[in-house]
Amino acid sequence: MLDRIRHTVLAGDRVSIDDAAWLFEHAADDDLQALAQSVRARFHAPDRATWLIMAIVNYTNVCVAKCDYCAFYRLPKDPDTYLLTPEQLYAKIDACLALGGSMVGFNGGFHPGLRLEDYAALFDGVRDRYGDGLEFYGMTVAEFMFACRVSKVDYATGAAMMARSGNRWVTGGGAEILVDSFRKRHSPLKYMTEDYYDAQRALLDAGLGSTATMVIGFDETLAERMAHLDRLRRFQDETGRRLPSFLVWTYKPFHTDLGGQETSERDYLRWMAVCRIVLDNIPHLRTSVLTRNEGALRGLSWGADDFDLPTEDEVTQMAGATISHGFDTLLQAARDEGFEPVHRGPWPVPPAVQAA
Ligand code: SF4
Repeated sequence: MLDRIRHTVLAGDRVSIDDAAWLFEHAADDDLQALAQSVRARFHAPDRATWLIMAIVNYTNVCVAKCDYCAFYRLPKDPDTYLLTPEQLYAKIDACLALGGSMVGFNGGFHPGLRLEDYAALFDGVRDRYGDGLEFYGMTVAEFMFACRVSKVDYATGAAMMARSGNRWVTGGGAEILVDSFRKRHSPLKYMTEDYYDAQRALLDAGLGSTATMVIGFDETLAERMAHLDRLRRFQDETGRRLPSFLVWTYKPFHTDLGGQETSERDYLRWMAVCRIVLDNIPHLRTSVLTRNEGALRGLSWGADDFDLPTEDEVTQMAGATISHGFDTLLQAARDEGFEPVHRGPWPVPPAVQAA
């Protein structure tokens, strides 16, 4: 079995989802790692990795989605809610820039009082203030979906509004495990899978850049993990390969209703390798310093080629993530793994072409 799959991968051909599942369950670490690195080498120099410093700025903790894996949200009537003013938000951006950052991701929740116009005004303000000196992810696909619902517009209309604002990028955040069985178990009020992809497609078609993400380590089955990768790979083909990157990170179980144990580094690394092998149509695979700290840099030897050094993210910190500003130590960990870390700027927004 391994020889047949290895032949497929080394020939540059696409592996089936069943074969990828077999690799995850049965391949030795060395074999899995080598296959992932061979796919990585199709896209990237084998001894280099790219990085930047970024902050996740959590502009509000108000959310009505009530995902059971989330320790961050507060319901609208809770006593400890907040919504940052533009000045408070700018102060957080300035703090990130002062640490050498060049990228910010805005991330809140499903706030029932925020319409797309409110987001657009915020993004216009940020772009006016920082120009091209800062790139930012205005929202996640999931937040965009809810803002469309609040604003009573369809995704195409909402995406066009976003594209006219100062916003250039969204992230594929809020994806977790993109399978309906998982969504019904843990976040039935958030969205269902094909709805998510409809929104993602509308954003790309409007000319915004976007990304793909996944979170592992809840109670998901291997079949659910594989279904996530399978649907994402098909979506990327269907839409003309416009998602430049895929980020996989791990669930932090502390202070959540779901609870549980944090998944192991070995599970993370082996899954990273499977992602690299399956997602042969996404150039960048990103490893998560935010949730794995220095251990994330080992991911560079398991298929990943890019990482960010986070300065803050309340969502994961509330669930147990610890953030270090010891950037030199983290970059040294990448070198110790055998990679020259090359600082990068934001990737260019992919052209808004129709699907091939
Ligand atoms: S994960 Fe996001 S959508 Fe779900 S409850 Fe938390 S803030 Fe809300």
